[in-house]
Amino acid sequence: MATMSAGSPGMYDAIVIGVGGMGSAACYHLARRGLRTLGLERFDIPHTMGSSHGISRIIRLAYYEHPSYVPLLLRAFELWDDLERESERRLLEVTGTIDASGPDEIVFTGALASCEQFGLEHQVLTSAELTARYPGYQLPPSHLTLFQPHGGFLLPERCISAHVEGALAAGADIRARERVIAWEPLGDGVRVTTDRGTYQAGSLVLAAGSWMSSLVPRLAHLAEPERQVLGWFAPLQPVLFVPERFPVFNLMVPEGRYYGFPRYDVPGFKIGLYHHLQERVDPDDFQREANVEDEAPLREVTARYFPAANGPTMALRTCMFTNTPDEHFILDVLPGFPQVVVASPCSGHGFKFASVIGEILADLAQNGETRHDIGLLRLSRFAEESIATT
Ligand SMILES: Cc1cc2nc3c(=O)[nH]c(=O)nc-3n(C[C@H](O)[C@H](O)[C@H](O)COP(=O)(O)OP(=O)(O)OC[C@H]3O[C@@H](n4cnc5c(N)ncnc54)[C@H](O)[C@@H]3O)c2cc1C
Repeated sequence: MATMSAGSPGMYDAIVIGVGGMGSAACYHLARRGLRTLGLERFDIPHTMGSSHGISRIIRLAYYEHPSYVPLLLRAFELWDDLERESERRLLEVTGTIDASGPDEIVFTGALASCEQFGLEHQVLTSAELTARYPGYQLPPSHLTLFQPHGGFLLPERCISAHVEGALAAGADIRARERVIAWEPLGDGVRVTTDRGTYQAGSLVLAAGSWMSSLVPRLAHLAEPERQVLGWFAPLQPVLFVPERFPVFNLMVPEGRYYGFPRYDVPGFKIGLYHHLQERVDPDDFQREANVEDEAPLREVTARYFPAANGPTMALRTCMFTNTPDEHFILDVLPGFPQVVVASPCSGHGFKFASVIGEILADLAQNGETRHDIGLLRLSRFAEESIATT
């Protein structure tokens, strides 16, 4: 990493663009390593315009998406724990996690395989056993559930604030309501231009979430924003949907792949459908208001598999995924720019990793490499033509 002359105004060791889930964690780790760090955020900190709002995000160790995520998760749990202690705030609620599907479908088989490969504590439950233990669940009789006791949900807005407070305490400069307009290489470092000023740094971390392709056009086909909707329904039997009696879930049913949470803050059981109505969007111009068409698929599955939760609507909110073609994250140095690191860890499952991703981004920005195994997440897995043109 090129080091900029300390003390000069507008000069930093590292600049982070986007202080959301990932950028806040990157600022925290960079600043705690003693690097002069600037975090730039176009909206507020935290805010509801991107991918990291909505009160809760599932965190789980059983990982049907790919077992390579498990070592990262083990480290993520450690770092969330550290941040909780340091910030003296509750960031993670443990409920246990449920991954349920038909016995031969990936949600169950993949979750089981990841537990077996890494020796994670788990139980396999039939639907009848699941309902006996957690009566809020009424899944199809032939479904199998992988229960893992260590996961639950994070409180994303609080996590962002805790990372930012830690970064500020370590000396970082964090500026909200300042939109980055452009960046360019400058010698070994970078120059960043915002709607308020110009800054220089030795390295740059791009953590712009759904806006990534406006800063790196060549990633347009590898980081596609998609509109999502979350629904909260007031349970008919509220006592069945408290965190102590309702583990978070990932559920594959004929209607789609769903995820959900117990009541927390908003007085409702919370449910979402992965890829919702499959609407790719322009992050600056899409239907932010949720409507009855959005509610329908959430309501249908609540009525069928969580009937005791199927009361009046309490809230509907939109949010954005940023999807890669294979739904694995992008975490890498940008080809051709050793001083620039890109992070697109969404595809609907990134938040739980933010703590460890902050550590990885700091490693990559500082040294160009990391001790963590991120082979699955490198840009080189995509055909060269999909990233080579600007
Ligand atoms: C509905 C929904 C449910 C989800 N559920 C889960 C879950 O249960 N568990 C889980 O692990 N993950 C989940 N995810 C995924 C997870 O929330 C994302 O992976 C994570 O929030 C992505 O963080 P990010 O930092 O990439 O994006 P963001 O948090 O959106 O941060 C990007 C930031 O960059 C800023 N920015 C962009 N452009 C500029 C610019 N030019 N100048 C300055 N700032 C800029 C934006 O304003 C934003 O703050 C879910 C996502 C959604 C939408």
